[in-house]
Amino acid sequence: MEVEVIKGTKVLKVRNKEDLEALEEAGELIRRGELVAFPTETVYGLGGNALDPEAAGKIYAAKGRPSDNPLIVHVAQPEEIKPLVREVPEVAERLMERFWPGPLTLVFPARPEVPRRTTGGLDTVAIRLPAHPVALAFIAAARRPIAGPSANLSGRPSPTTAEHVIADLAGRIAMIIDAGHTGVGVESTVLDVTVSPPQILRPGGITLEELRQVVPDVTVDPTTVQDTPPAVGRVRAPGMKYKHYAPQGEVIVVEGAPERIAARIAALYDGYAAQGKKVVIMATCETASAYGERRTAVVGARADLGSIAANLFDFLRRFDEEGVEVILAEGVEMVGLGLTVMNRLRKAAGYHIIKV
Ligand code: AMP
Ligand code: MG
Repeated sequence: MEVEVIKGTKVLKVRNKEDLEALEEAGELIRRGELVAFPTETVYGLGGNALDPEAAGKIYAAKGRPSDNPLIVHVAQPEEIKPLVREVPEVAERLMERFWPGPLTLVFPARPEVPRRTTGGLDTVAIRLPAHPVALAFIAAARRPIAGPSANLSGRPSPTTAEHVIADLAGRIAMIIDAGHTGVGVESTVLDVTVSPPQILRPGGITLEELRQVVPDVTVDPTTVQDTPPAVGRVRAPGMKYKHYAPQGEVIVVEGAPERIAARIAALYDGYAAQGKKVVIMATCETASAYGERRTAVVGARADLGSIAANLFDFLRRFDEEGVEVILAEGVEMVGLGLTVMNRLRKAAGYHIIKV
C-alpha cells in the first residue's frame, strides 16, 4: 500500500481489500485520542473518538469549527447505538432498517455517557451508519464510535477527495485515509426522531420523498429550504446557521425556468467580463449550449440531480484553484436531491439569489 507523509500527516492510499488491514494503525490512533480523516459515501469525515471529550475538542480546533455545532457519531453496526442513546423510537427502527447503511443521520436522546463536547452541549446525539467499506473497516478497527464532521476547514466546501482534505487539514491531523472520490458528494440527511412527526434538520443524500415512503408525515425544518438567511435562534441543526460551503469566489444563484436562467446568466456574465472579472458559469447539460463561447463548466444534468450533487463541492473547489472571482450558478428544481443541492448552493452564495 502507498503511504506518504505530507506536513507530518500520514496519508494511506486504500485501494483494495488487503489494504483494509492497514487500518488497524488508524484504529490505534483513534484509541490514543488522535484524529484520522476517512472516506464515506457522502464526503470525507474527520474522525475522533466520540466518547473522548479531548478528541472532540481537537476536532473543533482542527476545523476551526464553532463549539456549539454538534458532531455526527458514526457506528459500524446498528447495535452500537445502544450505549449512546436513551431510547430508540419505533419510527427510528424502521428508518434504520430501510436506510442503514446509508446517508441518513438520526438525532436521538443522548445518554449522559456521550460527552457534551461531542453533542455541542445538546442532550441529543446524531448518529449514522455509513455505506462505505473503508469507513466501516476503520470504525471497526477503532472499536469506538467515531465523531466525524466533514473533513474541511469550517466554512469551506466539503471534501469529496483526499486531495481536498490534504489541502485543508494536512499538518493539523495524524492521518488521512485516501479511497478516492466519494460517491454521493453531499452530506447525509439529518433527521430528528425525538419529535413527532420526525423532522429533517438538514437535507442530504436521502431525499424527503424516500423518507416519506417509510414515514409519510415527515416534515422539513423551514429554515433549510428558505431563500433568505435563517434568523439566528430559528435553526434547529446548529451547523445550518453558519456561513458554509463557500468558495473564495463570489457565488450568485439564478433561479427560475431553465431558459430564463440561461438568458439572465449570459447577460450577467457579459457584465462581469466587461469589468475584467474572471467569471465562470456552472451550467447543466441541458442548458450548456445556450452560453456559446462563454466560460462554462457543466456540473451535471437536470435529468439526474444526483450527478450535480456528486460534483458540486469538487467544482467549487476547482474554481478557487483557478482564481475564479464570480461563479454564476443555475438553480435546479427543489425535488429529490435538488432540495439538497439548492440548500448547499444558496448557502455557498450567502443567499445571493436572483429569481427570473
Ligand atoms: P457536518 O458535521 O459538517 O456533517 O455537519 C453536521 C450537521 O448535523 C450540522 O448541521 C449539525 O448542526 C447537525 N447536528 C449534529 N448533531 C445534531 C444534534 N444532536 N441535533 C441537531 N443537529 C445536529
Ligand atoms: Mg460540514
